[in-house]
Parts: sequence; C-alpha cells; structure tokens
Amino acid sequence: MSPDQRMTQPEATHLRQLPAVAAVLATPEAEALRERYGRTATTGAIRLAIDDAREALRAGEATAPGVAELARRAGRKLAAGAAGLRPLFNLTGTVLHTNLGRALLAEAAVEAAVDAMRHAVALEYDLATGMRGERDDHLRGLLRELTGAEDATVVNNNAAAVLLCLNTFALGREAVVSRGELIEIGGAFRLPDIMARAGARMVEVGTTNRTHPADYRDALNERTGIVLKVHTSNYRIQGFTADVGARELAAIADAAGVPLLNDLGSGSLLDLSRYGLAREPTVREAVAEGARLVTFSGDKLLGGPQAGFIVGDRMLIEQVNRNPLKRALRVDKLRLAAIEATLNLYRDPDRLAGRLPTLRFLARRQADIAAQAHRLRPAVAERLGDAFVVEAGDCRSQVGSGALPLDTLESTALLVRPRGSQHALERLAAALRALPRPVIGRVADGALWLDLRCLDEADEAPLLASLAQLGAGASDTP
Ligand SMILES: *Cc1c(COP(=O)(O)O)cnc(C)c1O
Repeated sequence: MSPDQRMTQPEATHLRQLPAVAAVLATPEAEALRERYGRTATTGAIRLAIDDAREALRAGEATAPGVAELARRAGRKLAAGAAGLRPLFNLTGTVLHTNLGRALLAEAAVEAAVDAMRHAVALEYDLATGMRGERDDHLRGLLRELTGAEDATVVNNNAAAVLLCLNTFALGREAVVSRGELIEIGGAFRLPDIMARAGARMVEVGTTNRTHPADYRDALNERTGIVLKVHTSNYRIQGFTADVGARELAAIADAAGVPLLNDLGSGSLLDLSRYGLAREPTVREAVAEGARLVTFSGDKLLGGPQAGFIVGDRMLIEQVNRNPLKRALRVDKLRLAAIEATLNLYRDPDRLAGRLPTLRFLARRQADIAAQAHRLRPAVAERLGDAFVVEAGDCRSQVGSGALPLDTLESTALLVRPRGSQHALERLAAALRALPRPVIGRVADGALWLDLRCLDEADEAPLLASLAQLGAGASDTP
C-alpha cells in the first residue's frame, strides 16, 4: 500500500497545498540563501522543510505553510547546520560545563591562538641556535616556575596524561590504587578501563571507605610499575574513613623504588580561597608532598584550553616523552600558544581574576549578580511575552567538571514560569535552544532558571537582542 492510498480524501487535498521545491526556490528569501550557502545546500534544505511540513499536515496541522515561510524555515536549517559550534549563552549556572566546552579563554590566550593560526611559529625550532627544538620547551620553564616541579610535558587532556603515565611505567606491570579512588568522571573516563587500555594490571588495595599504609606496603612487589593516587574530584567519602596522604604514600612508593603518580584532576595553580572558594590542593603542594608525577587538566579550574599536564621528576618526564604514544597525544600549536598565554597570566596573580574568565565568574559576588538580574528582568519579561512570569530568584551555581563538588556558589537567576501549561515552558526552552545564538538554562521545579553568573556585562545587550528574535522561532516550534 502506497502512502497515498492510505490517505483520506481531505488529507490529500491538504497535502496538495504544499508548494513545489521550484516555487520556494524562486522566492527572494531563497535567492538570498542561494547567495550565501550555494544552490545544492539551499535546495536540500528546502526539500527538508517541505518534508517536515508534510509530516505536520499528516499529524493534523490545519494549514500548509506558504513559499516564503518554507524558505525561512530552510534558512534556519541552513544556519543551524552551518555552525553547530556557534556561540551560546551559558546560563546553566555551571561555570565549567563539560558539555558546553568548559573554560572560556582569557583575551590574551585568544589572541595568541589567533596569531598562531595566521602565522608560522617556532613550534619545534630553537630561535637561539637555528636548530630543531622541542614543542614542550615553550611551556617547560613556565610550568617549572608555577609548580616547583623539575620538568613538565603537555598532552591532549588529563585523561591522556594519566593514560600516558600508566602506559610508560606500568605496561605489563602492576598499578596500585586504593579502592576508594576508583573513580568515573562522566562519559567514558573510568579509571579501571584506562588502566586496562594502558596495559597495566590494576591492583586494588584497601576498601571503599578505608585504606591504610600497610595496604599499600603489602601490595608493592617487584612487579609493581606505579602507585596511583587519584583526587576524588566529583564525590567525597564521609564518615568512618581513612586514606593515606600523598606525603606518606610518596615515602612508601619511594622505599619500594616505584614512582607515585598523583592525579589531581582539576588541579589549581593558586590557592582559590583568596577568591572565596573552598581550598583545593594546589599543584605546587602536590609536587612538594613528594609525588614523582602530578597530572592535571588545562580547561578546568586552570581556565585554559583543553590540555593535560604532567609535571614531575626530570628522568621520569624524559621517559614519558620517549613513549611513542606521546606523539599520538600531543598538542597542536594553537593550543600551545593559548596555554602559554594563560600560564603567563598566573605570573601576575593580583590581576588574574580580572583577566581569566573562569576565575572572574567563580569569584562574582551574589549581590552583583542579583543587581544584574533586577536590571535585566523587565526587558527579558517583555521579550518572553505575556505567557510567562519572570522574577529574580536566589539559586546556587556550581563550579562544574567535578571540581569542588560540594561547594556551590550563591547566585541569582531569572526564573521563568509559564502562566499556562508546563508545555509552554518546554516549548520556550526548545525555542531558546533554536535561536541563532542559543540560550541554555536549567529546567527545575516547574520553572526555567537562567543563572546569570556567567553573563558578562558586555553580553547583556547581545542576550536581549537574541531574545528579541524569539517571536518567529518560538511560534513554529511544534
Ligand atoms: C577531570 C578529571 C580527569 C580527566 O581530565 P580531562 O582533562 O577531562 O581529560 C582525570 N582525573 C580526574 C581526577 C579528574 O577530575
């Protein structure tokens, strides 16, 4: 049975109202799209728009859209398809949102990356001697200064840093880790899986809540390649607990002649308590405690691009760099330029919060965010229309990326509630996601929360301009 035979007579008439592709292509709107995206892409998008309209008619929609409307819908499809990674407003209240790309880079880092894109750079070239250089040379000095470690190297991300260390020191050997530290960090980073892929045999010691020095000592033998300590970044074990501190564990590992790797996860270069945040161990402290290797992320609390740092003893870092996997995990010139610029900002801690967006957002005081919410509320309410009530309401932001998991920050959100059904709220959230510059909030307790912590003052006007585009976008969301 063909689809046409299934149709009732009125339905068929209905579908015949749909314009042909050629008729839509002939509109001035489609002409503009052809100019911008080319004929093939425009024709394809128009076809999809007509297919969608046909589906909607079959599902009971009363009237068929006209040619100009179909061209506009095709235009929205083309715009969305052309830039899947277009900028959006992160109003989720999670500062380092892994799904939204974590840290925003400092201006200096953006400029450095752009320069490295446009121009040749001395990536592996020693300007002093005119000989071949190392790509790690650019960051080694900075990382040594900022962490107190002897040597340093950089790879794609912290997962890669841990993988590379395990593979270098525990391939075909044993890697000793406490049961209380066998973490999963969202997505696919599960420590036991990383160990297996690194070729290490995992030896678990202790129990979920308690691990003692003797547990480690008993597990160490001639097959041991590495001892691992993992910062349990996204959860905390409380109550009847015991773990072995890094300093004591470093001594135990040293006595057995195997390196201790301390995976800090977020790893900050500064004591963040001076910005009103909870104290996290700094990288410098972890190095001073005696771990031979310390790993941490570039795009968590550090506020740079995605990267994984390995700092520690020179001989061990040299071994890491000789591992052929290093080549597969290395970082390109754009990111190296951005990392170098970001690390340079840390040499001037007094001005860091003004320059590093991550720190600026984390350090924002609630009074400041609340004032912004009250200032923006009327304009946002006007743009969302009569179907919604908009109020300023207290909420709590999160650091995100598993950093400081129990330490939420007092913040203020614009709280959007529908006057009518809950469906209106879901339709609004969908329409906000469909904007040319999407607005991403959080739906909870029957309201849409737009936490303003990550909205810079310079982004206020662009946000209101985006919301002003809602009309068209919201009305044709089914
Ligand atoms: C986040 C995290 C990782 C993974 O770091 P990425 O940079 O996301 O690859 C590894 N270990 C710990 C403890 C972490 O918190």
